[in-house]
Amino acid sequence: MKKIIFIFILVGLAAGCQKTPATNVQSNNQNASTTTNTPASPAPATTAKLSMPIANGLGRITKKPFGIYITPQNSPVSPEKFKGYHTGTDFETTVEEQDADVAISAACDGELLLKKYATGYGGVMVQSCVLNGENVTVLYGHLKLASITLKVGDSIVAGQNLGILGKGYSTETDGERKHLHLSIHKGTGVVLLGYTQNKADLSSWLNAEDYLK
Ligand SMILES: [Zn+2]
Repeated sequence: MKKIIFIFILVGLAAGCQKTPATNVQSNNQNASTTTNTPASPAPATTAKLSMPIANGLGRITKKPFGIYITPQNSPVSPEKFKGYHTGTDFETTVEEQDADVAISAACDGELLLKKYATGYGGVMVQSCVLNGENVTVLYGHLKLASITLKVGDSIVAGQNLGILGKGYSTETDGERKHLHLSIHKGTGVVLLGYTQNKADLSSWLNAEDYLK
């Protein structure tokens, strides 16, 4: 009997020893997150992030996220005419939206650098932007060109309406489904490339999703 009680005590002590450091780690983590979150969250949230360019944006990223390698064989889209690493983020549209206007708004403050028809996009526009203190250019692909009343050189404010998406499988989207292709290229140059053949070249673009969450 004494032996059994002694074993219980030993087991109890051992369990106690194991628990002690675990409890400490947990409370340290809580302390760490409390101290780092409190001062960090208010300041950069509004300056570093992008404005959502389309309603319910994150819920629309279902087919081609940034960086995905696309071939006509593996593509989530059919038919597929592209091959390479996706330099942008695609925001899909619903069945109900196919014949409705889907508004696109500016992801950031900046100047309109380009507005034209381009192969692969149909209507495309590019604006300058400063993201985390760095110059970038933001590209919006597959827009209805006629709906964009802004002119090159105009100043754009984040959230400002830019126009609407082009009609699916028409010249407005250059034959693509109705969706928004949004890409962020580092620097001040205008780069229309929607896919790159070399994975390393993806480092010239940023993942918009990182700045929209
Ligand atoms: Zn795309």
